[in-house]
Amino acid sequence: MDASRAPARIEARLQALKLAQACAELGARVRTIAALTGLPARELLELLFPDRQAVPRGRPPASPDWYHTANLLNRAEASIAMVLYRRLCDAGFPPPEALVGAYRHYRGVCEPPHRISFDRAFDLAGHTDGLWFTTVRSFSLVACPACHSTFLAACGTIALSNEECPFCKLVQRYGTDPRVQASFPVRPLADLSGVPLGVRELLRDSTLRSAADVEGGDRREPRSS
Ligand SMILES: [Zn+2]
Repeated sequence: MDASRAPARIEARLQALKLAQACAELGARVRTIAALTGLPARELLELLFPDRQAVPRGRPPASPDWYHTANLLNRAEASIAMVLYRRLCDAGFPPPEALVGAYRHYRGVCEPPHRISFDRAFDLAGHTDGLWFTTVRSFSLVACPACHSTFLAACGTIALSNEECPFCKLVQRYGTDPRVQASFPVRPLADLSGVPLGVRELLRDSTLRSAADVEGGDRREPRSS
């Protein structure tokens, strides 16, 4: 064995194990964790789920069909999760780390119960970038020409109107749909009264300057000609 490469291999394995733990904490299935970390499913099962009753079960998501028939709130939350994922990928994070970071952020910004599971987010990201269990890109992120939000749409969609934008529809329904209101509650604006705001400071400075000018003007000696 090449001893000089051992520390790098140990480091890579530690990173993979940390990632696996993070995925499990977010509710990922073993199959998903194995795809994201490259670690064998059997090892993951032993390490992460010593209590076999706790293994997440059920049919894995199949997002290309699901998304286009999903309800408005599911589509809005799927779009939010994928926009966060895309931002982290664009910032240079590898897709597995970007997915974990984006999913944590998604759970922080959307109200529980969260409609997008970690496995769903994994499947959506895979079908957006042609990764993990597929090489086919079924989705792209598209900017709405009306509200300028970015949303998930069928790959190759060119948004000429806001017809498919879930965020425009959320705004339209907001006043009459209690489910939409509960999912996206109005949050009070932060109290900024104690924070020195730029404009206020500028006004204060300019007031002080004007006062100083007036005082200085009073004291100014008439110019001798
Ligand atoms: Zn829109």
